Amino acid sequence: MLPELVRLSINPSERPGRIALVEAEPARRDALSRVLASEGYRVRAVSDPSELGVARAEFEAELLLCSHARCESPLELIARLRAGYGSAQPLVILVGSNADEATVAAALYAGADDYVADVGRTAELRARIRVQLRNRRTLETLQRVKTERDSLRQDAQIDPLTGLLNRRSLETDVRERCQSSKRFGVLFMDIDHFKSINDRYGHVVGDRVLAALGTTLRSTLRPEDAVCRYGGEEFVALIADAGTESARLVAERLRLQVEGMPPVPGGPPKVTLSVGTTVHDPQKHRESEVELMRRADAALYAAKRAGRNRVEVVAPGLEGTKSEPPAPLLAASAAEPRPRAGEKA
Ligand code: GH3
Ligand code: MG
Ligand code: MG
Repeated sequence: MLPELVRLSINPSERPGRIALVEAEPARRDALSRVLASEGYRVRAVSDPSELGVARAEFEAELLLCSHARCESPLELIARLRAGYGSAQPLVILVGSNADEATVAAALYAGADDYVADVGRTAELRARIRVQLRNRRTLETLQRVKTERDSLRQDAQIDPLTGLLNRRSLETDVRERCQSSKRFGVLFMDIDHFKSINDRYGHVVGDRVLAALGTTLRSTLRPEDAVCRYGGEEFVALIADAGTESARLVAERLRLQVEGMPPVPGGPPKVTLSVGTTVHDPQKHRESEVELMRRADAALYAAKRAGRNRVEVVAPGLEGTKSEPPAPLLAASAAEPRPRAGEKA
């Protein structure tokens, strides 16, 4: 009766597994093969673990079912069974002949996924195989979901062209840094006359310039600094623990690095960057992140007005001293770079 009950409890949507059966004794091999086949499993039967290579070549076993003699070391048997499977390890269930508790425990400690104490307990054997395969599939599903989640998370945070953080991640980072009591520098960077690079050399080359610039910026900054592609040809860096002068020095170093970049294939001999720099120093000046970003934007605007390929600093409290107010960058879309009307040299 029990086997029938167990059979009725099987979820019909569970796909049949692939099982390699290792059994030296022909009569037992046939009997076990019949049990497995009646459950709908695909089975390859061999008489010794050394023959598993053949089964491996024929099909990928998810589970190895192997008889275990009382005198055999479970550790050695399991090592022989698992050899050759590399990182894609199958499940291993051992089947004993009237095995005692200590034998079962020793085999489980040695690395078996499960143990059926006697080959005659076919209902239990069926159930244990089913449960092991079900658990493995649940784990595989979880792993797949986790991989997909990680990849979606990556897509949501990273700009695919440059590999830098995107604007959304940067804004989260600015918010978090503003909530802490530590000061940091903010650098707004914009490639000079990038439109004319596109017009003259083509968009593909323009994209190469953006990617090369991303690599240069990332490799020039420290791990604790953040750098993102803010949109179009605009980049933002956050410089950890920087006062006004050190932020300016970092900005100047980035500007020089970009000016000295080797030309991208088929591209312009030189690319230059204008940089607006400011700092957030909560010990001296309390402000929202919107005010901070507007000030960095104002500094960038000043660098463009002053002739490009240069760094301009607007220190906290000194904004609004420039003759023209900047177009607010925060209102601009990440996809469309803000026009700087009347700023073409
Ligand atoms: P300025 O010195 O004032 O910054 O001038 P600019 O030409 O760099 O600025 P403008 O805003 O006029 O042009 C920016 C250009 O960047 C226009 C747009 O087509 C281009 N652009 C934006 N995103 C991309 C991109 O992903 N790839 C390429 N190749 N070009 C882009
Ligand atoms: Mg530009
Ligand atoms: Mg721009």
